[in-house]
Amino acid sequence: MRAISTFYVEKNQINDKNITVIGDDVNHIKNVLRHRIGDKIDICDNEGSRYFTEVESFFDDRIILHILGKTSVTTEMKTCVTLYQGLPKADKLDLIVQKCTELGVAEIVPVITDRVIVKINDSNRVNKVERWKKIASEAAKQSGRQKIPVVQDIQKLENVVENLSKYDIVIVPYENECEHTLKTELRALNGNNQNIAVVIGPEGGFSDKDIEVLVRNSNVRLVSLGKRILRTETAGIATVAMIMYEYEL
Ligand code: SAM
Repeated sequence: MRAISTFYVEKNQINDKNITVIGDDVNHIKNVLRHRIGDKIDICDNEGSRYFTEVESFFDDRIILHILGKTSVTTEMKTCVTLYQGLPKADKLDLIVQKCTELGVAEIVPVITDRVIVKINDSNRVNKVERWKKIASEAAKQSGRQKIPVVQDIQKLENVVENLSKYDIVIVPYENECEHTLKTELRALNGNNQNIAVVIGPEGGFSDKDIEVLVRNSNVRLVSLGKRILRTETAGIATVAMIMYEYEL
């Protein structure tokens, strides 16, 4: 029995009887997955609903799916987690995007902090962000999510801190923090429908200036992730996993 494929559409592609698939998904459904009339396909509207459909008809530029049923039983975490990731070297962010998508993150923002050594220019930034968006979409499909995490453009830390006040809490795992831990800060939050930001430093960690800029926000909490120093790609994944453990399992 073949696993049922999941695709994501905009609301305006859905009416009360059927769903119209357009764009790259047409070729993927028709020629890569080689679906036929009558095959079952799951469709998510990126707003939390999942539609059970079957292929009704093929056209050159679109596919019509007949809606068999709908559910709003979600695979999304109640807690909304945004990961601000200090831009790491090489293709580490590919792994971070994939694993944090599986773990339920809602948004990923690549951030230039003091010790980021990756050189970004207008030509490579577009390609990088497009690649990360594709990885997020594929990981969302594989893990059966109802929403594809939003991958934002690469931003500077000083521009990011202006928006941190919108979160209930901003968790900053800081390698020099000795007193507070992730556990104590998460336990201090009552209830679990929280809007949480996580800020992870790059390979070189946070500079004193990064921390000074971050702690200007009263909702920022510096936390330790334990006695060992985790790689930057481990720290974000581990932190999102522990938030998932605390609020979802
Ligand atoms: N340059 C730092 C050092 O060698 O001490 C290591 C930075 S670590 C590779 C990258 C990021 O992961 C840190 O900035 C922090 O956000 C997080 N991190 C890693 N281990 C941590 C720990 N034990 N406690 C808190 N944060 C940690």
